[in-house]
Amino acid sequence: MKKTTGNVSLKNVFKTIIWPRRKYVFIGLVLIIISRLSGLVLPYASKYLVDEVIPSNDFDLLKWLLLAVGVAVTLQAVTSYALTQILSVEAQNLIAKLRSQVQAHIIRLPIRFFDNAKTGELVSRVMTDVEGVRNLVGTGLAQMVGGVLTSIISLVLLIYISPTMTLYVLVPVAIFGFISLKAFSRIRPIFRERGKINAEVTGRLTETLGGIRVIKGFNAEKQETRIFEAGVHRLFLNVKSSLTATSFVTSAATFLLGLASAGIMGIGGYMIMEEQLTFGDFLAFTLLLGFMIAPILQMSNIGSQLTEAFAGLDRTEELMNLPVEADPAKRNIRLPEIEGSVVFQNVHFGYEAGNEVIKGIDFEARPGSVTALVGSSGSGKTTISGMVASFLNPTAGLVTIDGQDLSQVDLNSYRSQLGVVLQDDFLFEGTIRENILFPRPDASEAALQEAVESAYVNQFTDQFEKGLETVIGERGIKLSGGQRQRLAIARAILADPRILILDEATSNLDAESENYIQTSLKRLMRGRTTFVIAHRLSTIRQADQILVIEKGKIVERGRHEELIASEGRYYDLYTFQARI
Ligand code: ADP
Ligand code: MG
Repeated sequence: MKKTTGNVSLKNVFKTIIWPRRKYVFIGLVLIIISRLSGLVLPYASKYLVDEVIPSNDFDLLKWLLLAVGVAVTLQAVTSYALTQILSVEAQNLIAKLRSQVQAHIIRLPIRFFDNAKTGELVSRVMTDVEGVRNLVGTGLAQMVGGVLTSIISLVLLIYISPTMTLYVLVPVAIFGFISLKAFSRIRPIFRERGKINAEVTGRLTETLGGIRVIKGFNAEKQETRIFEAGVHRLFLNVKSSLTATSFVTSAATFLLGLASAGIMGIGGYMIMEEQLTFGDFLAFTLLLGFMIAPILQMSNIGSQLTEAFAGLDRTEELMNLPVEADPAKRNIRLPEIEGSVVFQNVHFGYEAGNEVIKGIDFEARPGSVTALVGSSGSGKTTISGMVASFLNPTAGLVTIDGQDLSQVDLNSYRSQLGVVLQDDFLFEGTIRENILFPRPDASEAALQEAVESAYVNQFTDQFEKGLETVIGERGIKLSGGQRQRLAIARAILADPRILILDEATSNLDAESENYIQTSLKRLMRGRTTFVIAHRLSTIRQADQILVIEKGKIVERGRHEELIASEGRYYDLYTFQARI
């Protein structure tokens, strides 16, 4: 896939989020250095104590030594506190911004992306994958930088004290380093896989909860639990296989470390007896050795954190590299206020290559006219209206709005003049007022009231204790189909679009609701270029043109009376429906 040139790629995320806060990164580095260096005072104080202070019997010297150690220890505590504080806050801040960027990118992806993506998987991308990055920035990086720093300084000091002993120690440490590297190159794909399984399991759970009515209705709880269990078990197996590798590294470390200690006792003891080494040197050496090795031992922790973070980063980046729908380079025609003329010229479309579902459509919808799309299920009506909304781009041919090629039009300038009412229209969890105001949050109270009345929403909200302030549940489940439909119509009236798409907006309604809805739809359609897709042919008798679609082609067109008179496909559909 082609990389985006917009301001959303991960490289840009670092440029826009991390780089501006480089001051904190710098302060963090300075704090790491101070904290680690002050830690190193301890081994040297011990050496001084054994080699100088104790033999001299000087209590003043002892006091000064203790004071120095006290200062160093305090400094270390304060700097590491400040460091963790700064890093944790920075990491949280980064995560908040990164999540917002990922969300902003996802919702700007073309609608085709969502046809194939699972909601829960996307949620997991936004929340879990990004969390891995927090670990990286929050503690992983600081530990790694601090660890490498401590290890190197300690190593230099160890060599300075005794090159012989250092050499002996380095052999098992090198073996350990080699083992860990091998282990982590094996663990990385396991972590990548883990992110994937996690997303799948989360995705399934989200779907299960969203479709709970269907699941209960078909008594499928057990089956859903089995599927979920299988996913969780895969997750368990994945974690288990990485645990095997990490615990091997830990055990190898313990063993090699034990070996090194035994060696030091031998060589150190011998060198002290031969007076090649002082007691103080020996003491400082063992303490410094701890300083050098601790970070290497922590590698298994930091290593898995980093591996996890990188896996999350990879997956986030993959998503961020998908091109967004509103590519500003291609869509550079800003529409002024439009008349609302829509023209299709020899338009073809296929969801998959080699499988066209729209096969050469031509029509013109004049400003303010009503075009009805009629045809059997699967004939391509929704696909055509999707191209009017620019959710889908034709694979061949041209769609124009007021003469402009829609595929080059800036989507903001177009969609702000478009309205869509769907069969099972989406309502947010929130109040009825919020749901109606959603396309135009700053609309006046008068405009809102007018929309509410035109769509007969007040006819049922007046009976609610809280009226328009009534909260509707997730997907508006507490409203009836007809009430939800009226709410969706009020929303579209308030949005006041030039072009309007009604996709099966009147199907499955009871007779009483339908009356209200027919009237409110008529009000909504007045003066707008409207596309109506309807099962109920009675709703399209007034259309300016009726396009009869079969298998992606227009097989008949005309007004109701003309099509009835010609006794073709429309006549069949109409008389068939009249009979039932
Ligand atoms: P209608 O609205 O007339 O019932 P559609 O436009 O929804 O028909 O569908 C036209 C054809 O395209 C059908 O064969 C359908 O299976 C196919 N189709 C619809 N949506 C998708 C999609 N997201 N991916 C692949 N094929 C699709
Ligand atoms: Mg459809």
